Amino acid sequence: METQTKSYDCGIIGGGLAGLCLAIQLADRGISVVLFEKNQYPFHRVCGEYISMESWDFLKGLGLELDEMYLPKINQLGISSEKGFMLEHTLQLGGFGISRFSLDHSLAQIATKKGVNVVEQCRVNALSENGLDGFDIKTTQGDFQTKILCGSYGKYTPQFLSVGQNHAEENDGRNFIGVKYHIKPQLPDNRIELHNFQDGYCGISKVDHDWHCLCYLTTAKNLQENGKDIKRMEQAVLYKNPFLKAYFTNAEFVNPHPLVISNVHFSRKQTEMKGILLLGDAAGSITPLCGNGMSMGMRASKILANELIRYFEKGQSKAALAANYKNAWNNAFRSRITAGYYLQGLFGKRNTTDIALKTLAQMPGLTNKLVSLTHGDRF
Ligand SMILES: Cc1cc2nc3c(=O)[nH]c(=O)nc-3n(C[C@H](O)[C@H](O)[C@H](O)COP(=O)(O)OP(=O)(O)OC[C@H]3O[C@@H](n4cnc5c(N)ncnc54)[C@H](O)[C@@H]3O)c2cc1C
Repeated sequence: METQTKSYDCGIIGGGLAGLCLAIQLADRGISVVLFEKNQYPFHRVCGEYISMESWDFLKGLGLELDEMYLPKINQLGISSEKGFMLEHTLQLGGFGISRFSLDHSLAQIATKKGVNVVEQCRVNALSENGLDGFDIKTTQGDFQTKILCGSYGKYTPQFLSVGQNHAEENDGRNFIGVKYHIKPQLPDNRIELHNFQDGYCGISKVDHDWHCLCYLTTAKNLQENGKDIKRMEQAVLYKNPFLKAYFTNAEFVNPHPLVISNVHFSRKQTEMKGILLLGDAAGSITPLCGNGMSMGMRASKILANELIRYFEKGQSKAALAANYKNAWNNAFRSRITAGYYLQGLFGKRNTTDIALKTLAQMPGLTNKLVSLTHGDRF
């Protein structure tokens, strides 16, 4: 517990990928950073754990020794329909697999080594602008002051920020749940599979620890209609896809109990709220089938770090910092997000998905185009 108010150049709320990557880049430039994370590393998260190759060089540049981690490189994609058709495709850029348990922990260790004050088991509860052009931050580990504050708190806006916000999207029927297991199936290390079922889809691909990640997204309605019982829903809904039924019944489950999150919404939000600069899912999230949220969060951290360095080193004003970041964020992600919303309509439906996959199987060029819309260039 911090007893005195400590002052830093930059505070970061949330130590997922976006926040940790931002912290490391700022520390590399000698900017003092405090990062607040309510959990303690290492810990598991609901995430498909497939990272687009676009982020490989960036992560290495932060000091993560990816080449020595012998991670699975993934370049084969299979997408199945509930009716049992499998589209086969070779990924041009592809990706790699690493558990969030390992990845976030390694990044937190790098951040600490570089001088970031990573405060774990520390929830930010309240904040206010302090009249000195900075912020007073109240946390479960004491009070802090920062000149700049960034929000990388993920998909759930903290209550102290959401007061007075519009919550219409939370009641619009597009309320999802995410479920994740680590399993040991018969599936090649270089292959990712996406299996459709009614109102949802499930990804399976290899990560570290000799595990595969099995992670699915479906509507809260699907769960409600099955008595809020995950197992019952899996048997009644997911098992209708014969590939999924085979994985659930034949694979070894590392832990029989899944990690589950609810109240998941996918929408564009904003890059600034109440003077706080937002990145990662806090600024907007995309369905995992339509984009690579982790790579988007990391790319946003690079864009924001560049603008913050101009603020701290070159005297860029706060207003210019916020405006330049917003423009750069829009340029980087606008078309990816728009494409994602259209693509989403093709998945999670029994007949439409089956017809779409059979059509794409005849048109590999178009499949390439669609897949490339969900990945960005290397950065
Ligand atoms: C089902 C599902 C599958 C997915 N699969 C993939 C995939 O395969 N590939 C991919 O690229 N993306 C995937 N994504 C998206 C990806 O998980 C997110 O885009 C990514 O985790 C966002 O990172 P972030 O740093 O913004 O947020 P997060 O990783 O969510 O981190 C936010 C952190 O902030 C902390 N926090 C929140 N509030 C506070 C507070 N008040 N005080 C202190 N700490 C706080 C939280 O504890 C958390 O650690 C998936 C998403 C879902 C839902």
